[in-house]
Amino acid sequence: MERYRRLAEEAALGREIAKVYAPDDWYLKGGLTARAVTAALRGRRFTAARRIGKQLLLDTSDAGPVLGLHFGMAGRLLVDGRAAITDLWWASNEELEGWDRFAVFFADGGDLRMRDSRRLGGVTLDPREARLGPDALTITVGQLRSALGTSTAPLKARLMDQSKLAGVGNLAADEALWRAGLDPRREAGSLDAGELRRLHRHLRKTMQDLLERGGSHTGDLMPERAAEGVCPKDGAPLVRDRVGGRTTWWCPVHQI
Ligand SMILES: [Zn+2]
Repeated sequence: MERYRRLAEEAALGREIAKVYAPDDWYLKGGLTARAVTAALRGRRFTAARRIGKQLLLDTSDAGPVLGLHFGMAGRLLVDGRAAITDLWWASNEELEGWDRFAVFFADGGDLRMRDSRRLGGVTLDPREARLGPDALTITVGQLRSALGTSTAPLKARLMDQSKLAGVGNLAADEALWRAGLDPRREAGSLDAGELRRLHRHLRKTMQDLLERGGSHTGDLMPERAAEGVCPKDGAPLVRDRVGGRTTWWCPVHQI
C-alpha cells in the first residue's frame, strides 16, 4: 500500500480533475453515489497522499473531501497506466477495462484508476480515519500494549483488527508471530513485558520487510505455507488451522 501512496504522491498531485468514472455502485461505500463523488471531485486537485493501514487517503484542494481508496485483496492503483512510480508502462491507457472499478480523469489527459479483479476494494469520501488504529509500520511499544489490551481474543485476531492496529493482514500476522516465536492462539492480553517487546520489534521489522520486498506474500514463512511445509528456523512440520476465522500456519516447536 505504501507503494501506491508513493505513486499517487509523485504522479497524481496537483492535476486538475476533469471527469470521474464510477460505474459500479457496489464499489462505492458508505452510501456514496456516482453523482456525489463526481460532484465532489470535479474541478479539484489532489493535494496530499496519505496512508493509514491498508487505506490510501487523497486530500483534495479548496477544502474538498478526502477520497478514501481501499484496495481489498486484489486491487491495484494505476496512474497514467503505471502501477508503481518505477514502471515505465503497465497497461494500455487508451481504454477502460472491465476491471476498472473507479477512475479519475485529469484535465491534462492522464488518469488515476483502481483496477480490481475481485471487487473486494472500495471507494469512500471522508472515511472516518479515527476508526483505524495506529499503523503497524510505525507503532510504538505503548501503542501495541494498548492495542492488545487485556483481550482474551486470539493474539492473531487482535493483530488483524484494523480498529486496534492498522495494516496487518493474514499473511503479515503469521509472518510476524512466526518471527517473534509466539503462538497465534495465545490470548492477546497474556503477553509479558519481554514478549510484548519482542512482538513489537518483529512486527515492525516484518511490515518494513514486506513493504520493501513488494507485498505480504514475500515473507520468509510464505514458501512453507503448504502441505508438508516445515519451519525455516527449526525444520518442524508446520501446523495449519483456523485462528480468528482465517487460515493460519505456525510452528508448534518454537512458537509458544
Ligand atoms: Zn519453528
